[in-house]
Amino acid sequence: MKDLNIVTGQTVAMPSAPYQARHFINGVYQDSVNGRTSTRMSPSHGVLVSEAALGGEAEVEAAITSARSAFDDGRWSRLSGKDRAAVLTKVADLIEENVEALALMETLESGKPIGQSRGECGGAADLWRYAASLARTSHGDSHNTLGADIMAVVLKEPIGVVSIITPWNFPFWILGQKLPFALAAGCTCVVKPSEMTPSTTAMLGDLLNRAGLPAGVCNIVLGYGAPVGSVMTTHKDVDMVTFTGSTAVGKLITKTAGDTLKKVALELGGKNPQVIFPNCDLENAADAVTFGIYFNVGQCCNSSSRIIVHEDIADAFVARVVEMSRRVAFGNPLNEATQVGAIVTDEHRAKIDGYVRDAVKAGAEVVLGGGGLTVDGVGSQFFEPTVVRGVTPDMAIAREEVFGPVLAVLTFRTLDQAIALANDATYGLSAGIWCDDIHTCLEFSRRVQAGTVWTNTWMDGFPEVAFGGVKQSGQGREIGSYGFDEFLEVKSLVMRIGRTRTPWVKQD
Ligand code: NDP
Repeated sequence: MKDLNIVTGQTVAMPSAPYQARHFINGVYQDSVNGRTSTRMSPSHGVLVSEAALGGEAEVEAAITSARSAFDDGRWSRLSGKDRAAVLTKVADLIEENVEALALMETLESGKPIGQSRGECGGAADLWRYAASLARTSHGDSHNTLGADIMAVVLKEPIGVVSIITPWNFPFWILGQKLPFALAAGCTCVVKPSEMTPSTTAMLGDLLNRAGLPAGVCNIVLGYGAPVGSVMTTHKDVDMVTFTGSTAVGKLITKTAGDTLKKVALELGGKNPQVIFPNCDLENAADAVTFGIYFNVGQCCNSSSRIIVHEDIADAFVARVVEMSRRVAFGNPLNEATQVGAIVTDEHRAKIDGYVRDAVKAGAEVVLGGGGLTVDGVGSQFFEPTVVRGVTPDMAIAREEVFGPVLAVLTFRTLDQAIALANDATYGLSAGIWCDDIHTCLEFSRRVQAGTVWTNTWMDGFPEVAFGGVKQSGQGREIGSYGFDEFLEVKSLVMRIGRTRTPWVKQD
């Protein structure tokens, strides 16, 4: 453990008191009617950092009623795109003005490093700004070639009331992948963050009011998946659910939302491979593999938790990744130098540990790390950077979402083998290839089953470029114009010009 780069000191102060997170319903912050609350201890420092109102059916019912009437009376849905864009742009400005407070809260509740939180919260402003541009440029379709006396237009209309359910790994960023796009489309929303990371979502309520979003257009309810999330996915007045989280809950939502035939968009897990060919920029590839597995302590749907490396270079490449892994700064999230922080809960740490132990039992070899990590003066809810070799495709560590800083190494000889290994997964979120031969890159990109393919890079993302998965990684897309379109319904309008319609009933 001593040859790892562990950061113990702190450069950012802990706030003097825990944040009080409250529901935001019809533009007003409020407690639960029964006064219940939940508390969040910081994963890294083990101290109380927030107390949140704990919602029940009363709060979620009130939030849905508020969103429904805000949608139906047109206070937002019938505004011009220009007016909606002005509000969304103002929200983006306010996020940037408040980035320090948001980032500190994000770090305290999630355990991620403060530098990363600043990047995510500040970066979310760009998602709001891009969504604002879509509010103004959205348009449907026209048909002017249907005949001399007929024409048609296809209108895009907001789908209605949208339930937004988000997880704990990127609370403010994932909210930004959904909420501004739904609002840009003219929808109204009910939002539920993870009960582990409710505060930055709650803080957004104030910014929405200050930006001039009409009351009732966005409502935030804090609480657990049951009952808050389950009511949000079954209620008759909700038209669409967009969810990011585990595949298990995603499948459940698809079933329960089916009763009222709500549209369901899901962004679920991944077991994302990077394939490494000998003729690539190996230094850069090793760096991207290191980034891909440790970013957000691997608690990331896009984590590249398995690499498929060519047999000829496997030893040297893995050695280089191990060397780089030792240099990544793990430790105190309140230190600006830290790159990788704490694990979200102790139970989750135990789950990660279980995957490593099972892999070893099944014959894999741990070449770096492999266990929990205690950071002096901070806490023990950390996990070592871990590299596991000799992984075979049948092992759980090669197939399941570990959601931790644990890299599984597989090897290949031919392109066909690499593609077969990459596709040998129930998931299909993202995949990558490192190779200097454009033909190999193109063939891989076309044959690999994934929503996003990166060639000679990893996890570059842009508000303009759609994101989502195939197979059990989800359905629908987020961000980009495709993500925006998820929140729109299509209405076809067919118009006859003049009294030219041929009667169906035989004339006298
Ligand atoms: P969950 O899928 O349980 O949680 C995600 C969100 O869904 C939370 O807000 C949660 O609420 C809510 N939720 C839970 N149950 C329901 C329900 N029945 N109806 C509606 N909403 C519900 O993820 P976990 O936090 O339990 O993480 C477990 C695993 O999921 C991780 O180890 C990882 O593998 C995967 N995961 C994947 C993510 C991704 O980015 N794709 C993100 C997070 C997790 P609450 O937790 O407050 O009860």
